[in-house]
Amino acid sequence: MKLVTHWIGGKAWEGQAGRHLDVHDPATGEVTGRVAMADAAVVDAAVSSAAGAAGAWGRASLAVRSRVMFAFRDLVERHTRELADVLTSEQGKVTTDAMGEVSRGLEIVDFACGLPQLLKGEFSENVSADVDSYSIRQGLGVVAGITPFNFPAMVPMWMFPIAIACGNAFILKPSEKDPSASIVLARLLAEAGLPAGVFSVVQGDREAVDAVLAHRGIQAVSFVGSTPVARHVYETGTAAGKRVQALGGAKNHMVVLPDADLELAADAAVGAAYGSTGQRCMAIAVLVAVGDVADRLLPRIRERIGRLKVAPGLEPGAEMGPLTTREALARVVSYLEQGQAEGAALIEDGRTLRIAGHENGYFVGPCLFDHVRPGMSIYRDEIFGPVLSVVRAGTYEEALALVNANAYANGVAIFTNDGGAARRFQAEVQVGMVGINVPIPVPMAYYSFGGWKQSLFGDVHVHGREGVFFYTRGKVVTARWPDPKHRGVNLGFPQMK
Ligand code: NAD
Repeated sequence: MKLVTHWIGGKAWEGQAGRHLDVHDPATGEVTGRVAMADAAVVDAAVSSAAGAAGAWGRASLAVRSRVMFAFRDLVERHTRELADVLTSEQGKVTTDAMGEVSRGLEIVDFACGLPQLLKGEFSENVSADVDSYSIRQGLGVVAGITPFNFPAMVPMWMFPIAIACGNAFILKPSEKDPSASIVLARLLAEAGLPAGVFSVVQGDREAVDAVLAHRGIQAVSFVGSTPVARHVYETGTAAGKRVQALGGAKNHMVVLPDADLELAADAAVGAAYGSTGQRCMAIAVLVAVGDVADRLLPRIRERIGRLKVAPGLEPGAEMGPLTTREALARVVSYLEQGQAEGAALIEDGRTLRIAGHENGYFVGPCLFDHVRPGMSIYRDEIFGPVLSVVRAGTYEEALALVNANAYANGVAIFTNDGGAARRFQAEVQVGMVGINVPIPVPMAYYSFGGWKQSLFGDVHVHGREGVFFYTRGKVVTARWPDPKHRGVNLGFPQMK
């Protein structure tokens, strides 16, 4: 049985952990290994190692830093299938989805390879007589990332390639539910020539997170996970003087206007609601059917649900795998019961699904509720499973008001053939990432990812230009080289001449 441990000082940690948790295969429910849990002493060892490496790495030339990124990029590409299989074995997602996760992560590495261009400062000659001014951006030192179970490779890759390319040492605290991908990434970074200590992994749960937040040697923390924990991380981290960006949960709506292409909308709704078994922060959880759309669209969605292949992730042709944990399965089942009790119509019930030989796996089939209303818990709460709720709205204004009243504001999509309506929606909707006839509008690496309201605590989104800003500090230099005509004391406030 495998033992997953920390990565400190450029190698797997060899100490004895005081505490372990089991790691499961979601397709069978079997325990496949154990993961070591970090305490404050392990976090401190990782910070010492990172602090020891950060200085030299921050001073390494841009050429050296980007060369390591290029080598890492090549290695990840060559190990895509290995990484994907690790994801399937612990997270449960199907192979095509796992390969997609790695390739979306790789896009951030591509972006980080071009960091020298993004770190270029500005220069103004002669801002005053014989005085030049220029700006530079410098790494922060030691920074940390805390990541969720749903994207064990991609979400860490939103963070560390940019942090490292900017000259920081990075400590990753991955989810304890699927810890192995972090160690494959650590190994590939070491093979790419990254000096020991520049990338570390501490496995663990709340104890490790709180040690990261309290540690004075860590300058900044990126977090992705649920809203209550995001708020805790933001409040605790900033109170300790750290820079924090904390991305939280979501309840994403897809608004379908009566003029939309309903074949396109049905394909999009099914892909976005049930892809990754609904365990995506950009999954569509609510379909807002405007006017008479519901009665025309629902048969198309149900027909597509009937054709979905739910199966263990490694099975050829599998489109939807199990949920990641037994708790997630229990949570979905409990919301199905609540939704029925609250009066919504459960028109597709995934609880009837049986997969021979996988009776103890965490499987539930696609679920579809019609006639959902805003007061219901299935509408209000993030379920994080394959459950799509249909809310019927009379008008565009009613649909917009519904979206804007939601506590979360991560992603949203509108389906219409009316360019004017789409343009109005993009201006009026209060959400961080907007899709127009695109159900999962995850920005490319060179844009920044992040929601509004309860979906993000902090001011700065991840990756893209905002990611570079998060992991660096700006400095402006005003320089005058000696010139005899400037001799003489002047107590006045410096003025331009
Ligand atoms: P989670 O909040 O339970 O865990 C996230 C991280 O925090 C993990 O590393 C975990 O070990 C740690 N953690 C858990 N409980 C903690 C506590 N009480 N104190 C300190 N640390 C704690 O989230 P999850 O269940 O792993 O992931 C699913 C959630 O993540 C969903 O809400 C989803 O919407 C969200 N998510 C958001 C985004 C985004 O970009 N906004 C992306 C992916 C996932």
